[in-house]
Amino acid sequence: MNQPLIPAAKPLIGEEERAAVDAVLRSGMVAQGPQVAAFEEEFSAALVGGQRCQAVSSGTAGLHVGLLACGIGPGDEVIVPSFTFAATANSVALTGATPVFADIDPDTFCLSADSVAAAVTERTRAVMPVHLYGHPADMDGIGAVAAEHGLEVFEDAAQAHGASLDGRLVGTWGRFAMFSLYPTKNMTSGEGGMVSCADEEVARQVRLLRNQGMERQYANEVVGLNVRMTDIHAAIGRVQLGKLAGWTAQRQANAAFLDVHLSGVVTPPVKAGAVHVYHQYTIRVEAAERDRMVSALREEHQVGTGVYYPTPSHRLSSLERYVPAVDMSQTERAAGEVISLPVHPSLSQGDLERVAAGVNAVAGAGA
Ligand SMILES: *Cc1c(COP(=O)(O)O)cnc(C)c1O
Repeated sequence: MNQPLIPAAKPLIGEEERAAVDAVLRSGMVAQGPQVAAFEEEFSAALVGGQRCQAVSSGTAGLHVGLLACGIGPGDEVIVPSFTFAATANSVALTGATPVFADIDPDTFCLSADSVAAAVTERTRAVMPVHLYGHPADMDGIGAVAAEHGLEVFEDAAQAHGASLDGRLVGTWGRFAMFSLYPTKNMTSGEGGMVSCADEEVARQVRLLRNQGMERQYANEVVGLNVRMTDIHAAIGRVQLGKLAGWTAQRQANAAFLDVHLSGVVTPPVKAGAVHVYHQYTIRVEAAERDRMVSALREEHQVGTGVYYPTPSHRLSSLERYVPAVDMSQTERAAGEVISLPVHPSLSQGDLERVAAGVNAVAGAGA
């Protein structure tokens, strides 16, 4: 059939973003400046209830400086999921601390509080859940384990702009939280990240660490990095932030359509009290069928999909020395079974119908 491929993800960059970038370029001031300051304020008001926000050059940089700002370093253990992008564990390892992997809840694909409890040792300093695919992690359960053992909670909210649990936004639970602004995320600044901080001391440390340890020029107080966001990127992010709510509603409507129209696969459940923002719409299929279904969707139905993540972090050659001490069977299983379907806001009704018909056909073909 000669129909165009429906892509798995599609960044939406329009005239307004181009005009905003052009205005910054014409101003001649392109590095971190007034656009970044405005973006931080607007992001804070829109997405984390007014908590302090610091923009950085990427989500990964945000995790790195957030962890450093909270004093994480050699000798510390930070519990993280393995079923996530490698940046989660990488950022812990880059501080000199040890990422300790725990297993996931099979329904939400997010860190399991019971598994976190099993992974705690006397060196554990913190736990960093990921709100994977845009579904909030079990912050009450994880918070209870953290309180019992005196651990800090950090949030990898890279995929979860605007998600919430019992009316509380993600990014407001942890001592710090990070949102990614990479092009395939729910909103973008080109590249970028936003660090939301619960208190001014962490916020100040993040500001220092992103700028060579300086708040005042050439008065370097700590050893820092350069992970500043530019005004060019912030200008894109500000426009995108204004469009996020509409896009999220469209993602949710697309997901609702798929929930109703898919058959023969396991659709993603939403926990009571959770608002899912569907960075990904991730189904489960038989592991033995998964790769056949992915290629049949592409070849026969022109439906692009993603597998996030085919290899759990603890099986990557870069991270395999951090051998999990707890059972990881839900992580292993999910890695073999997941397929993420297009759910992005630019899908037309016809696209959605093609996605559903394609999935139902390839699922039925294997049965
Ligand atoms: C995208 C992502 C990151 C890293 O963000 P970048 O902006 O790409 O550096 C970290 N964690 C998770 C879960 C992500 O999806």
